[in-house]
Amino acid sequence: MKRISVVWRLAFSFVIGLVVLSLLSGCASTGGGELSGASPAKAKNIILLIGDGMGPSHFGAAWLYSTRVLGKELRMVELMRRGRTAYMVNDTADAIVPESAAAASQMATGEKMTARAVSVAADRKTPVKTILEIAKEKGLAAGLVTTSRITDATPAAFAAHVAYRSDEEAVAVQELQAGVDVLLGGRKQFFLPASAGGKRQDGRDLVEEARQAGYAVVGDAAGLKAASGSKILGLFNMGNLAYEIDRTKTAEPSLAEMAAKTLEILSRNPKGFFAMIEGGRIDHAAHRNDAAGTIHEVLAFDAAVGVALDFQRQDPNTLLIVTADHDTGAMALVGGGRTSKGYGGNELAAIQKVQTSFEVMAGELGKNPAPEQIREVVKKHMAIDLTEDEARTAAGETVCKLGPAPAHHEVPALHGLAFVLRSYLGVGWGSQTHTASPLMLFGSGPGSEELVGFRHNTEVFRLMRAALGG
Ligand SMILES: [Zn+2]
Repeated sequence: MKRISVVWRLAFSFVIGLVVLSLLSGCASTGGGELSGASPAKAKNIILLIGDGMGPSHFGAAWLYSTRVLGKELRMVELMRRGRTAYMVNDTADAIVPESAAAASQMATGEKMTARAVSVAADRKTPVKTILEIAKEKGLAAGLVTTSRITDATPAAFAAHVAYRSDEEAVAVQELQAGVDVLLGGRKQFFLPASAGGKRQDGRDLVEEARQAGYAVVGDAAGLKAASGSKILGLFNMGNLAYEIDRTKTAEPSLAEMAAKTLEILSRNPKGFFAMIEGGRIDHAAHRNDAAGTIHEVLAFDAAVGVALDFQRQDPNTLLIVTADHDTGAMALVGGGRTSKGYGGNELAAIQKVQTSFEVMAGELGKNPAPEQIREVVKKHMAIDLTEDEARTAAGETVCKLGPAPAHHEVPALHGLAFVLRSYLGVGWGSQTHTASPLMLFGSGPGSEELVGFRHNTEVFRLMRAALGG
């Protein structure tokens, strides 16, 4: 009797073990960060919006500013409520803290990349096919849009293959060769030879070549609005476009205006389209630790998300994805400011008074500004009266002298200024460069079923490819 019971117990344990194993293997095939493999819904169009440098805290700061100061909800929140959201990480082949070329190339190709490589394998030679190239092969239209340079890392990753992102001259050629129907952004200088005020060493005039290839070439917001035809090359600045906070003083289009024109033109292709629309200067403002500049860049990006959402309402057969390539600056809204009592403060009103980007202020300050000069410029553009001590701290460049990675320290005093402004604006910064912060990945429409759980940015490519039918 006792022996029988041992046998039964063993048999019972074996069966339970099998059940547990099969459950575990079932979990591993669906919940371990891989795409489920279930045949996804097909999308006619894909709109991928990338906030360059937009960590969750940038989004959070913009949400508070929008709801409390401007009295309106973010369009990104509308999208999250309508769709799905995932937690996304972005480490690369050789870095835990990525830069834009590798991060964007991972989303464009699905392969892990090395730093500064643009959609090439680890040998820095072999091209890796991008989602834009797959879309073009299927007969779809394609567009790339940014407030940064159109030859910068993020747009480049979708239509070019170069060993290093700094080869913007080659990127310009390849973007046109790839047949990208709409190209909107800055960096006109890499489309023009030196004789026409550009920086091309090979003497080519890509603007003229684009015209002959059937592109309408435009250079300001009015030109963009008036443009028709199926191909547009819009180059609105020799360098980056102006920051949103400064843009009203220029003739440049907003990111939302560029997005609207892009979707209008690309949607004429009956087979559908792929568009990548980038808020390229969230990253730049965050590198400079410019709190107001960063928030206005996120809001401009949010308006472009709104344009995409409105388009999706008209054509629901559109997969809409919003994400970031990496976090920049480790921005944080912090308690304990000038008007704060413990955690009760609200420094958003001080941010609202800021009229100018750090970039423009830097131009007025010059390389080594004196404390008194810093006080004057801050008073003029930010309506803040710094104390002499604070101005001296900024002028002393202490933050830059102590901090790592001085790549973006064009005016070191600005980082000291950002530090002393913490008690006025309620914004602190953990870095002047990128961080490894996890990011948000969200969206809606056919194929968005996979935008849940824990994702790596290489999976963005896979789910877009699946939505296009593999
Ligand atoms: Zn950056």
